[in-house]
Amino acid sequence: MIKYRYNLIKDLKNHIDVLMSLRELKKLPVTIHYPNPWETLKLIFIRPKIDYQCDKDITCYWKSAGTGGSYFPPDEIYVCPRETSYTVEEIVKHEIIHLEHEHEVQGMTHEEKEAYIISKENS
Ligand SMILES: [Zn+2]
Repeated sequence: MIKYRYNLIKDLKNHIDVLMSLRELKKLPVTIHYPNPWETLKLIFIRPKIDYQCDKDITCYWKSAGTGGSYFPPDEIYVCPRETSYTVEEIVKHEIIHLEHEHEVQGMTHEEKEAYIISKENS
């Protein structure tokens, strides 16, 4: 079962991670949503609506900054609803596939990992 949660401390920790890894993030073909107090406040009061479920125990934390999605094995994913290229449901599904195939993508570049994960999404 997927639990959807918001945790202010985790969100603020993520802001620090985003700012500290900006140089690396900017090299990747991803959208970066910059930490912004207004967006954080919005997310505290308005959570995305989603009823997507799966049979694995995963916690999905909403985040107000960073890339559209990220994942932390074994069972945590982070999804930023500011992402407009994909729906939150699409991001949730994508990050879960990352969790499932993490052991197979060790040593791959970001682009190789994404290509591999996308091939799994379509299979
Ligand atoms: Zn990905």
